[in-house]
Amino acid sequence: MAASASWPGGLRIPSRKHAIAAGPLVVAPRPRRVLLALRQSMETGAELEPCVAVGARVQEGDCIARPRHAEGAALHTPIGGTVSAIGQRTLAQADGAGTCVVIEAGAASDLAPRPRVPLGDGFRSLAPEALLAQLRDSGLAGLGGAAFALDSKLAQARRSGCELLLLNGVECDPWTCCDDRLLRDRAAEVLDGALVLLHASGAARCVVAVGDDKPEACAALEAARVTLGDARIELRAVPALYPGGAEALLVTTVTGVALPAGKLPADVGVLCHNVASAAALARFVHAGEPLLRRIVTVTGSGVARPCNVEAWIGTPLSELLALAGLGAAPLERLIVGGAMSGLAVADPSVPLTKAGNCVIAASAADLGLPGAAAELPCIRCGDCARACPVDLQPQQLHQALRNGDEPALARLYLDDCIECGCCDYVCPSRIPLTARLRAGRALALRRRAAEAQATDWRERHAARLARDQRAATTQRAQFERARAEGDGGGAP
Ligand code: SF4
Ligand code: SF4
Repeated sequence: MAASASWPGGLRIPSRKHAIAAGPLVVAPRPRRVLLALRQSMETGAELEPCVAVGARVQEGDCIARPRHAEGAALHTPIGGTVSAIGQRTLAQADGAGTCVVIEAGAASDLAPRPRVPLGDGFRSLAPEALLAQLRDSGLAGLGGAAFALDSKLAQARRSGCELLLLNGVECDPWTCCDDRLLRDRAAEVLDGALVLLHASGAARCVVAVGDDKPEACAALEAARVTLGDARIELRAVPALYPGGAEALLVTTVTGVALPAGKLPADVGVLCHNVASAAALARFVHAGEPLLRRIVTVTGSGVARPCNVEAWIGTPLSELLALAGLGAAPLERLIVGGAMSGLAVADPSVPLTKAGNCVIAASAADLGLPGAAAELPCIRCGDCARACPVDLQPQQLHQALRNGDEPALARLYLDDCIECGCCDYVCPSRIPLTARLRAGRALALRRRAAEAQATDWRERHAARLARDQRAATTQRAQFERARAEGDGGGAP
């Protein structure tokens, strides 16, 4: 049964993806070289800590970097070979660059994967805490965009008494269809992942939400659901209204509860995961595979064969574009992350990350979407505010950013922006509001991460001084005692 959306704004945008979703899934060959970004998305904050050095030999599936904090997920190499470099590379992220571990594939004899030990159905006999500990090293992260560690969200859900597991298969971007293809091909795997998530989270039931513009995916899911026969799992078709797949909005659509500003789904008893994350979890549990690959839509008039590709994390996007036949039309812009909220990147050699769901090789004609023509001054029409699904005032935020007015940015809830692109889409002055808000948020995130690191260093330095002080006091006391005993013993 279709639910109705109950949040403000939103847009019905002509879709450019149904023919691509109907085509077969292409499996990319394993690259000869991967660039594994130590920050897989801007949202996950500080970079991971590499646990390999230049010159190290690695096997497929080896962990090459570990998180410094709960939101980060471990990172594994999808190819065996040698670490050739660790250094700054261009990335499809708001600040344009970050550290990557570069791995060159070894000879065929070196390419044997690390042996895997799947949990299999044994996960059912594990206590949820023990299962979460196993997931900590899996590299599993949200594949819907933010790439938060899966185990971290699960732990948070357990702490807050999660009642509902909400699997997100809405995929409302007008060009992205990797989840649609996944659901058509691997609905049973998604539901296997749902069973693991139910066990680990303690949720009583699961709703799998799918956009009502995906009848084939809904049919595949329904068939898998009937075969599985688990009454806790329900399928829900939701309106294909952009950006209805955004986590907070989907929670509102499915539960009728609007998330208060600054709150997470866990605060209202909901654990939200993307359907692709659930499928990856099933592969980890039943095949022992850490997160090494994902499905990504490669599309736009610039490629001759737009398609969904199952690709290895760290693959340069240029290889995926070549696979899809880059060169079909002059490339005007390369966009990573979807038509509405994606990021334009100048360098096609940027690597695929866990967050990368869509790559668009856009021609000038494709850019009839926002941002094609020159920017004009704001005419204060208010269209951007009416389109905003989280009730922000984009034009005021834009002005506050230009003025560098941080108190106003906080007052206007810049942090609540979900970077959906609705404001750009409707703006008659073609102001790239989303890009500027994203840059403002990235700056704030970086500043907060730097402040957190400085606080950490200060606290560790203070702790060190206190330790040294205690040691000196103890030493002095021992010295005084020894001297007193010596003086006493030797007195005439
Ligand atoms: S839609 Fe564009 S022109 Fe209209 S108020 Fe917003 S920023 Fe200004
Ligand atoms: S990008 Fe941000 S400000 Fe613009 S419509 Fe989306 S949520 Fe609102």
